[in-house]
Amino acid sequence: MKVLVVNAGSSSIKYQVFDMTDESVLAKGLVDRVGIPGTTLEHKPAGKDEVVIKKDLPDHTAGMKLVLDALVDKEYGCIKSMDELGAVGHRVVHGGEGFANSVIIDDNVKKVIKDCFAIAPLHNPPNLMGIDACQELMPNIPHVAAFDTAFHQTMEPANYMYALPYDVYEKYRVRRYGFHGTSHYYVAHRAADMLGKPYEECKIVTLHLGNGGSMAAIKDGKVVDTSMGFTPLEGLVMGTRSGDVDPAVVFFLMEKLGMDAVEANSFFNKKSGMLGLSGVSNDLRDVEEAANSGNERAKIAMQVYINKIKGYIGNYIAKLNGCDCLVFTAGVGENGIDIRESICSDLDYLGIKMDAEKNKVRGKEVDLAADDSKVRIFLIPTNEELVIARDTVALATAK
Ligand code: AMP
Repeated sequence: MKVLVVNAGSSSIKYQVFDMTDESVLAKGLVDRVGIPGTTLEHKPAGKDEVVIKKDLPDHTAGMKLVLDALVDKEYGCIKSMDELGAVGHRVVHGGEGFANSVIIDDNVKKVIKDCFAIAPLHNPPNLMGIDACQELMPNIPHVAAFDTAFHQTMEPANYMYALPYDVYEKYRVRRYGFHGTSHYYVAHRAADMLGKPYEECKIVTLHLGNGGSMAAIKDGKVVDTSMGFTPLEGLVMGTRSGDVDPAVVFFLMEKLGMDAVEANSFFNKKSGMLGLSGVSNDLRDVEEAANSGNERAKIAMQVYINKIKGYIGNYIAKLNGCDCLVFTAGVGENGIDIRESICSDLDYLGIKMDAEKNKVRGKEVDLAADDSKVRIFLIPTNEELVIARDTVALATAK
């Protein structure tokens, strides 16, 4: 079966087409600036040159139509006709407490996605726009939703409840959910393969370090804890997100800077993190370079970034009562050689010893640990789209 995987954001649509007979990628691409003047489609068919098409488009349906036209184009397409597509898989950020697995999209699923608008206002509305657009253009094939929150639904109340009055959980579902679930799922399963142990018997700490970042502690095939919470703001220091702060800082700064709730939300989500602390950039490469050239704020930002991660490693090894492996993934995790080395330094008490030579590698599945390290340290490039494509085929072909 050939499957289209769609990740629709507020002004962008990312897509990949898989041939699931061998899981090869036939084409992938991105529509950027949907609904904003200057819409661009970058389409990369396998084995052919990239094509860039510029055409102003009013909405996601027009954006998806442009993608579908590219997929069947005689010159740069990857399928002869739309009939070759057997199903579509959609990335959806928030599934609330409704979904622990991917599901075929029906009216009830769409209602749950809508019910989560209030707790994921930046992500779920465009995700649903992408689904509506695809269903309009491809009404006769199954559409599947894969949720970023689903993998973390195995967490127990001990780790997902906040110490707030219980009725805010009952009334508003204020609790910790966790995100990047599809990525944590993929790398944790690959890690079990690399350990040569059944996944259900492993203790794994996954580090998804990208522009957004989160960690997860996985034991006996279940997520025990993860660093993102009610929203993707909690946890690690990220490109522009603060991660954990004393909530009293929020009230204090709202008063001092005269911010309302919307402004405060933007302050902690968009102006903080590595960007706010370093004053250099949200991009780890730029901050690292500035730190190496002597920029004091950039140096502090790097130290705060690394220390936060080390703290979570300790936290998670305590909660798992041991650890078979750490797994580095996503942009920083796959490419940040010095950052990985700093994170793993001085953790020998926990049985973590990196081999500095083995660590000089980017974007490959490999073990970075010293031979005598008790804990393996894996670098595993993530592949969220493949997980979504696999789930989509499984659900589309289930009897
Ligand atoms: P992602 O969100 O997974 O695409 O990751 C984006 C992040 O990866 C950005 O902050 C980049 O700076 C970071 N990144 C990419 N390459 C490197 C590198 N060589 N060293 C450090 N960070 C990197």
